[in-house]
Parts: sequence; structure tokens; C-alpha cells
Amino acid sequence: MTQDRNAPPGLQGTDAPGTKVFRQGITSSEAGPLPDNTASGLIGGLTTRRATLVAGLAPLLPSIGLARSKTHSPALTQHSATTVSSLHTPAVLRNAPPPRPLVMLDPGHGGKDPGAIGYSGTYEKHVAEAAAAELERQLLASGRYRVALTRTSDRFIPLEGRVEMAQTHRAELFISMHADALHDASVRGASVYTLSGAASDSQTALIAQSENSADLFGGPHVHATSPEIQQILASLVSEETRRGSAHIASSVVTSFQSRLTLLNHPHRHAAFVVLKSADIPSVLIEMGFMSNRRDEESLRQAGHRAMVAGAMRDAIDRYFSSMRTGMG
Ligand SMILES: [Zn+2]
Repeated sequence: MTQDRNAPPGLQGTDAPGTKVFRQGITSSEAGPLPDNTASGLIGGLTTRRATLVAGLAPLLPSIGLARSKTHSPALTQHSATTVSSLHTPAVLRNAPPPRPLVMLDPGHGGKDPGAIGYSGTYEKHVAEAAAAELERQLLASGRYRVALTRTSDRFIPLEGRVEMAQTHRAELFISMHADALHDASVRGASVYTLSGAASDSQTALIAQSENSADLFGGPHVHATSPEIQQILASLVSEETRRGSAHIASSVVTSFQSRLTLLNHPHRHAAFVVLKSADIPSVLIEMGFMSNRRDEESLRQAGHRAMVAGAMRDAIDRYFSSMRTGMG
């Protein structure tokens, strides 16, 4: 297979300019029936939300039930108690397919911000976009998720705008995808980052600084957030969100372990601006380092990106599956 319509310029399998299909906003259908295998509910995080919704509707249900029986069917009146109580039972919900969770993918950089520039000139923004498009394809193919992307074309989006998009879409998971560069070109391997006020190590502090500097490309109207503000923002993230973020991070590391070269201590943390949603578990993935010749060469290959995306899809499956069983 040599054609890869999702690969941006400069990467393997790129279509001729002008043939690229640009997608906008949420790219899966919002509604529609679920396949039988997902109706049983892989999506645990939503159970609570759905229960809350039903509880909120409960006061309205008796009047709805009685009004219907009076208007349309006197025979139902004598059974109205049964009808009403049945509305409170889970049996009613069996027919309502649980909404699929929305996973927000965030390809790093874009537009005037190229991100890291690789050993042989590949731009991080192109690798991130191609990898996110592949992960989107795999998640949608599973039928278990809705997927939205912060960008589906080569354009600049401030970090704050990415966080806001995830909140507007009511995402249940936010995954920022990158391939940064380090001064030491010998360092290679994938790594996974969660939010913390203080960096876990000096290398991670530099990576966070580099990723947070993306907003400098935004011009005077986009202000980079100061380290002090970043620490305050990090402290606002709820404990539950922190646990979710740590959980998806360790799930990704587990998936990567058997398939990819990993950085030492691959789960790290620092004050990444893009991970500061207070209520959406968020993780930033460095799929490799553009400054390393072998990592750059791998990330240019559609086959390698498909393997990375497959590992991430498995990690996302495990994350939602364990949230459902209450192990998250
Ligand atoms: Zn980056």
C-alpha cells in the first residue's frame, strides 16, 4: 500500500497537493445505533453521567406517564404505577444505546509553528497530524468512540484554544500528540507526560518549556502562560482527573512497551499548558524525538505511525474498559 491520503507533505505516502481531504470538527456521526457488541457498554465513565441524567429527569416522569395514559389510553391508567416505576428501572435503558465517549486528539503545533525540525528536515507538525489522522481512523473503525481533532489541517492554534475545544466538545479524554527535539541527538524513544506543577526531571522540564513555547508563534495577541500561572492552573485540576490522566498514561506505556523503543522512565510529568483541563483526563505523547535520526526515519513511515496508533488505540480501549469496571 503506497497511498496514504492522511499523510501531510513530506511524509511517506503523500498524495499530490490538492488531493488531501480536509475534515472539520467532529468527524464521526453524533448519533446512530451502536453495533451490538458495543451496546453492552464498553464505556464506563458514562454510566455515572447517564445515571445522573436519569435521576434529574425522574421528577418529570410520573406526570409524563399519567398525561399519556389519560390522553391516549384509559386502559393504561390502572397500570400507571407500574409504567412509572418501570421508567426508573435499568430495563428501560437497555434500549437506549449508551453514547460513545468522545476522544479529543490534539496534533501538536501547525501553521506558522512547525514544532521540532527533524534531523533531516521533517517537521514535527506534519508527523503529529499524520499520526493523529491514523489514530482517528483506527478509533472510528472500532465503532466504540466519537473522535474530534483540534486541527485537521496545517494551521496554528494557541494552546489555550486546544484546551477550550476539548471542553466545548465535552471530551472524555484528551490526547496531545508530539515528536519533540532534544539537544542530544542520541536520545530516542517514546514517552508519555501528565500534568504537574513541578517537572519530574530536568529533561522533562526542557520538553515542557519547548512545547509551551508554541504560543510564541501566535504573535502579540497570544500570550505564553508564565510558569507561576502554570503552577496555579495545575493545582486546579481535580484529583479524579489526575487519577484518570495517570491511568491513561500508564495504559499507553504498557501498550508501547512491547512494540516501541521507550525513553527511560517513560511516564513523566511537568507543567504542560495543553494538559490543564480541570475535568478531562489529559495526556501528552512524545512518539519519538525528531532530533534522533532513527526516530525521525520511523515516524516518516506510514506503517510505523499505524503501529504507534494501534498501540494507543489498545491503551484507550483498556482505559475505558477499566473505568467501566471501576478500576480506574
Ligand atoms: Zn511538540
